[in-house]
Amino acid sequence: MSDTLKALLDAALSPEAAPQDIAAAPLPETMRAAVVRKDEIGMFEGVPSADKDPRKSLHVDEVPIPPLGPNEVLIAPMASALNFNTVWTSIFEPLPTFGFLERFAKESELGARHDLPYHIVGSDASGVVVRVGPGVTRWKPGDRVTVHCNYVDMEGPEGHDDSMIDPRQRIWAFETNFGGMAELAMVKANQLMPMPTHLTWEEAACLSLTLATSYRMIVSPNAGAMKQGEVVLVWGATGGLGGFAVQLVRNGGGIPVAVVSSQEKVDLLHSLGIEHVIDRSAEGYQFWRDGKQDPKEWKRFGGKIRELVGEDPDMVFEHPGRQTFGASVFVAKKGGRIITCASTSGYMHEYDNRYLWMNLKRIVSSHFANYKEAWEANRLVNLGMIHPILTKTYALDDVAEAAWAIHTNQHTGKLGVLVNATAEGQGVQDADKRAMHAGEIAKWKQLS
Ligand code: NAP
Repeated sequence: MSDTLKALLDAALSPEAAPQDIAAAPLPETMRAAVVRKDEIGMFEGVPSADKDPRKSLHVDEVPIPPLGPNEVLIAPMASALNFNTVWTSIFEPLPTFGFLERFAKESELGARHDLPYHIVGSDASGVVVRVGPGVTRWKPGDRVTVHCNYVDMEGPEGHDDSMIDPRQRIWAFETNFGGMAELAMVKANQLMPMPTHLTWEEAACLSLTLATSYRMIVSPNAGAMKQGEVVLVWGATGGLGGFAVQLVRNGGGIPVAVVSSQEKVDLLHSLGIEHVIDRSAEGYQFWRDGKQDPKEWKRFGGKIRELVGEDPDMVFEHPGRQTFGASVFVAKKGGRIITCASTSGYMHEYDNRYLWMNLKRIVSSHFANYKEAWEANRLVNLGMIHPILTKTYALDDVAEAAWAIHTNQHTGKLGVLVNATAEGQGVQDADKRAMHAGEIAKWKQLS
């Protein structure tokens, strides 16, 4: 960290410093940032997806500070977190993300700033505001914030019921540049939320992307709109999305049926009070055999769910995609819904449509969350009703190792990254509130 950055951070984190003092502290000329490089997008040609190694493509480089535009905010991320989209960016799949940046550049002069020979990753962050651009009135230097990744200006009419529908909606640090794994990050003012006061920097940083996605999928009328007592099948229930999904289902009076892939994960979920858990590895489900799906295996899976809860799921929380989608459509209750936000195992889904239409089931798409949904989810955390699922924290220099752990499914919960924070455990603003929720926070950390 440069001396200039250190002085800026000292000012921004000092309880005595006025916003104008922080705004007057000089910015460094360059910063350290985790990036993929445009001249390396061909490096994995011919390599199978599973062997594409982010440890070869993710680098920590010294890059210039981005120039701030209207309604934008420069924050100093204290921590960031890994998401699957950092894996996609670093293995250049399904397409190199530089294409998004080139398209953004064609839209406007401000968009053109994002089209660079490097792409700064990190779609989650907690940190402190150090500069605000023209037009920003709700936030000021010194505010401690978390960032959600819905990047949208709302200039057109289309997104005013739900900003996720806006044709110019983007995911920050995936379809834009200047993400959270950098000493300074550029965001829109409407991406900011107050940092939950009882959390550390790294706990607060690991929330927004997967929590808000799960919140929209399960709670929001824009997708799942779960009612009390509904049965919800959650794939990958100790993963980034699933670990929040099981909490949200329970918190809203639903009954989660969790699916995981090891006895260790089953035991963990049981210890967290999640009663109904299926170990897909031990059960040995083979939904696909020789390139075809096997409906007998769907039935066997559905039978297991009935054995556990006595009924079929009202809702399926879907993200593994091709491998599981046929089974998800089959097991949903008559009139039930399959909420899908991803296709980790392949996006060309196949399912038997007879089970869908004859049983009046619905497939509902969901993608991240609008500001209101992200804010409501963040509020639940601040109230101590939902807890972070951070299981391991890496230094910025080791971010590629963390991406590899996710790519190879060696992780549970969320993986954090210290950016400007010098050690884990910093950033708690309300020690009494922390003490009140410490037991629950520690429980969910056991996911590691
Ligand atoms: P994650 O932390 O890796 O968790 C996913 C879990 O799914 C894995 O831990 C694994 O759990 C399970 N899984 C993986 N492959 C599977 C398969 N073939 N069959 C059954 N289960 C499988 O990832 P995440 O953060 O939860 O993200 C999951 C997906 O959602 C990614 O593709 C990500 O890009 C996407 N996503 C989309 C949005 C959006 O807004 N659209 C937002 C966030 C994430 P077990 O091995 O224990 O079963």
